[in-house]
Amino acid sequence: MLTAHLPSGYVLARALPKGIPRLMPVALVGAVFPDLDMIWFHFVDDGAIHHHRYWVHIPAFWLAIAVVALPLAAWAGWLRTVTVFFAAILMHLLLDTISGGVMWGAPASGHLFALVTVPADYSHWIISFMLHWTFLLELVVCGTAAFLWIKRKDAA
Ligand SMILES: [Zn+2]
Repeated sequence: MLTAHLPSGYVLARALPKGIPRLMPVALVGAVFPDLDMIWFHFVDDGAIHHHRYWVHIPAFWLAIAVVALPLAAWAGWLRTVTVFFAAILMHLLLDTISGGVMWGAPASGHLFALVTVPADYSHWIISFMLHWTFLLELVVCGTAAFLWIKRKDAA
């Protein structure tokens, strides 16, 4: 997924009940958080391995964190907010599974599961992704977010 993670966080926040504290910022941060590994990917690893192999893209890591964090959040009275963060993380991983590949079997398996393989038909991988039919799904997410943003009640 190239462009739709942040918009997907917006759509998630708009789909949830409004009474959740810090709903929008938490949904937006959670929706893009796993891709912060791009900083390490580019500036430390120099693109040596697929960034979906880093711990922030591994569902088992987030499951382990959630097992610890959710009871603590419930105790502190932040359960709904922290649950939104994990829901946004899960949404990110599901969207990456469409064509990017996610290690759903880790740590038992290092296989990157993807629903669709985007062939390297063009000279740059970004062009191959943008001209593949799966990019239409990204446009739908972005369009939905734009529609919801334009139709928001606090719009001037
Ligand atoms: Zn990602």
